[in-house]
Amino acid sequence: MGQRRGLLIILSSPSGAGKSTLAKRLRDWDDTIRFSVSATTRPARPGEEEGREYYFRTREEFEAMIAGGDMLEHAEVFGNLYGSPRAPVEEAIRGGQDVLFDIDWQGGQQVRETGIGKQHALSVFLLPPSISELEKRLRSRGQDSEEVIAGRMQKSRDEISHWAEYDYVLVNDDLDATFERLKTIVTAERMRKSQQPDLVGIVRNLNSEFEERQ
Ligand code: ADP
Ligand code: 5GP
Repeated sequence: MGQRRGLLIILSSPSGAGKSTLAKRLRDWDDTIRFSVSATTRPARPGEEEGREYYFRTREEFEAMIAGGDMLEHAEVFGNLYGSPRAPVEEAIRGGQDVLFDIDWQGGQQVRETGIGKQHALSVFLLPPSISELEKRLRSRGQDSEEVIAGRMQKSRDEISHWAEYDYVLVNDDLDATFERLKTIVTAERMRKSQQPDLVGIVRNLNSEFEERQ
């Protein structure tokens, strides 16, 4: 295969449906996929590291980034600001690398509307198999208070209502099966015409060969 362009892989779901888990598996499967590390004003959870899961910023710092045009998209989620820094995304896509976004539906809409998003976005929405299973998973993560869990459950309905805006929708029942489906989607989407800038040249060469035979 010749050169290829990167995809902007957008993964959204209600909180607890399995985005971070699948995002991590995808990067373990192919370490050329760059993860878009978001900035957020929410406090770090135990085990989270600055620059790995998020860039943890004050509201003032975050607002300065927005004002400076440094954000590809941003949104308020659960009372905190979240956003995807623009520069690393543009650099990766130019270099032919895929970028993975773990963002909510508001971010998904904004990324799809950007210049590079219109050409290279691949959006996948994850649904939980049931609402009771969603709540169980949120609790099993063991990182949020009862109040935060209740807030996230409330927001889930709103998030789920945006499922139809996505290219693909996966019900994350069995984790291994969902991961297999996700890999299949990414593998196929990398072959999209718009992702293969060399195709015109390849076909031109094929045609020259035809000419030479005549
Ligand atoms: P999100 O990033 O969407 O908030 P996480 O990836 O943190 O969700 O998953 C929430 C919890 O559910 C984690 O404890 C994770 O291990 C678990 N989980 C994810 N997918 C599945 C699955 N298919 N079956 C059972 N548990 C899962
Ligand atoms: P959490 O606090 O659980 O890490 O994330 C809460 C929600 O914010 C999730 O739905 C997550 O996808 C979303 N989110 C994380 N980063 C971004 C971002 O950069 N932009 C947007 N729009 N949403 C984000």
